[in-house]
Amino acid sequence: MGDKTEEPKQTNENLNVLVSTQAVIQEALNKLGYPEEVYELMKEPLRMLTVRIPVRMDDGSVKIFTGYRAQHNDAVGPTKGGIRFHPNVTEEEVKALSIWMSLKSGIVDLPYGGGKGGIVCDPREMSFRELERLSRGYVRAISQLVGPTKDIPAPDVFTNSQIMAWMMDEYSRIREFDSPGFITGKPIVLGGSHGRESATAKGVTICIREAAKKKGIELEGARVVIQGFGNAGSFLAKFMHDAGANVIGISDAYGALHDPDGLDIEYLLDRRDSFGTVTKLFKDTITNEQLLELDCDILVPAAIENQITAKNAHNIKAQIIVEAANGPTTMEATKILSERGILLVPDVLASAGGVTVSYFEWVQNNQGYYWSEEEVERKLEEIMVRSFENVYQTSHVRQVNMRLSAYMVGVRKLAEASRFRGWV
Ligand code: GLU
Repeated sequence: MGDKTEEPKQTNENLNVLVSTQAVIQEALNKLGYPEEVYELMKEPLRMLTVRIPVRMDDGSVKIFTGYRAQHNDAVGPTKGGIRFHPNVTEEEVKALSIWMSLKSGIVDLPYGGGKGGIVCDPREMSFRELERLSRGYVRAISQLVGPTKDIPAPDVFTNSQIMAWMMDEYSRIREFDSPGFITGKPIVLGGSHGRESATAKGVTICIREAAKKKGIELEGARVVIQGFGNAGSFLAKFMHDAGANVIGISDAYGALHDPDGLDIEYLLDRRDSFGTVTKLFKDTITNEQLLELDCDILVPAAIENQITAKNAHNIKAQIIVEAANGPTTMEATKILSERGILLVPDVLASAGGVTVSYFEWVQNNQGYYWSEEEVERKLEEIMVRSFENVYQTSHVRQVNMRLSAYMVGVRKLAEASRFRGWV
């Protein structure tokens, strides 16, 4: 394949993330030789709660928000996963995200199953107090189903440590005892862990470094493009910059910035708002679609789902793609990229640093004994390197792409635990 940019393709690709995830789960279970009933157990969450949350808005009116909490499978241990605040949240998306959390925990070998929550809302258009009331209302609505030994939430798209703090406070009030282990991603003063905020980007950085070694690419001076400037994207831009890489493109929901000589990352980090918006400050922007097709060595989708599809996969120039977002590449695009010899490090491995340090936070809360930042980083490094190698070797031995090998590694523990419990 040459570098020539092809016309966007017309495709009838299925962009339903639940359906496409189920297909890969099935393929992974088949390759591992599990019977069909294991797939039947795993294709959907065991529990899915839909709630409606009335919130008094600042203007005195009441708005009813819809929220979800999915618990995919708790055979290995309590379910774990973030809560997303986004206008496009759907029930099927939350289900798929909970399955991905099960896979992440399996890949990095945490004693958890997968869970996920979401609220259909646009926090960019809500006040601080409205967000607090919504966060507390959500916890009241799901409180029966969650808890430190049942299901442990965390941040995700457009949620942060402040929202975790309100949620922890609400849960502790309901239970009438302090429950820091109910939720992770908290502020440090409320039992949060050092290194949690930057953990997803740290994990992605380690995967980029390991993938670059495999491809014989020097990180120093490598051209990096990052889609998304939220929690993962912004910390990653900093880490890449610190590692001597040349970050030539970044984006937010409104557009993208490109400079072949390298962007001024410190300035951009300084100017971004808490939702990761920064491109509005510039006149000279490109689109997110153009950003993904830039000439670069390493591409990191760190925003939302379905960004690299059968339409643009042929035009990607990067040699390495490391998925910091959940579900940014479709299954058809995965096949195209792997045929083109592009090394794709899948979301369920690359973005697992977040839940790994969430696990550390939960362990520290349970022990009441807190670790230094160095200790957190050392443990994260060890787990990410081991997990990367495991998925990489499996892909070589089984002659499958890295996504399928990650699913194979991720699903195995879940299947075994379910079997020992007599569920299948
Ligand atoms: N929301 C993050 C993810 O998708 C982190 C989940 C957690 O820390 O439990 O992996």
